[in-house]
Amino acid sequence: MAVNGGGSAVILFGSPGSGKGTQAKLLRQCMQAPHISTGDMLREHIEAGDALGTQVRAGMQAGMLVSDELVNRLVEDRIDRPDCTRGFILDGYPRTLQQAGAMHQLLLARNVVPVVLHLQVDYNKVIARLSGRRLCPVCGTLYSISSNPPKVAGLCDKDGAKLITREDDSESVIRQRLEEYSLQTQPLMKYFRESGVSTFDVDGSEGSPQTISNKICGLISRQV
Ligand code: ADP
Repeated sequence: MAVNGGGSAVILFGSPGSGKGTQAKLLRQCMQAPHISTGDMLREHIEAGDALGTQVRAGMQAGMLVSDELVNRLVEDRIDRPDCTRGFILDGYPRTLQQAGAMHQLLLARNVVPVVLHLQVDYNKVIARLSGRRLCPVCGTLYSISSNPPKVAGLCDKDGAKLITREDDSESVIRQRLEEYSLQTQPLMKYFRESGVSTFDVDGSEGSPQTISNKICGLISRQV
C-alpha cells in the first residue's frame, strides 16, 4: 500500500440527482484535485465489456448497489494513484456503513482528512431532475431538459455528440435507487457526525450549479 502525503478527501454526499456529479466536476478546478466517481468507474467497466463490468451490469441496471468489497477495492486502487497525493473528491462513495468503515481505514492509513458535503434536494425535485437528465457520452457533460437544456436539442454544446439517457434513469429504476439511498446511504450522515468527521449541509436546490459550486468552494477553502 502506498502511503501518500495527506491532504483532504472531499466526500460529496447526497441522493441520486442531488448534483454530486455536476458539483464534483466544478470542484475539480477549485480544489485542483481529481474527481473519483464510483458510478463512472463502474460504467467504464460495463462499456469496456470486461469481467467486472459483466458482473455488475444487471444489478446497476436494476438500481441496486454493487458489492461493498468490489467498490472498496476500486476506490483503494484509485486513491493510490499519484494524482491523489494531495487530495481527491469522492462522488458516490461511501454508500453503506461497511464502505464508510473501510474508507475511514483507507484515509487514516494515508493521513487524509475527510470533509463531507451533504447536498440536500427535495424528493420531487430529484425525480424531475433524474427523469430529464441527459449525458454526453463523449465528454461527460450533464444536461437537464427542463433546467439546463443543450443549445440544440439532443446534442452536446461542447462537441456536438448525440446525448444519451443513462440506462438507470427510467422511472422504476429511479425509485429503486432512491430507496437504496434512504435505507443504506442516508444513515451514514449520523455515522459521520458521531465519528467526528466535519460535515456541511449545502442547499443543492437553489441557484445555478455555478452558484452552488461557489458556495462549496468557499466552504472547502476554509477547511483544506
Ligand atoms: P447516482 O448517485 O445518481 O445514483 P452513480 O453514478 O453514483 O449515480 O451510481 C450509479 C449506480 O452505480 C448505483 O445505482 C449503483 O448501482 C452503483 N454504485 C455507484 N457507487 C456505488 C457504491 N459506492 N456502492 C455500491 N454501488 C455503487
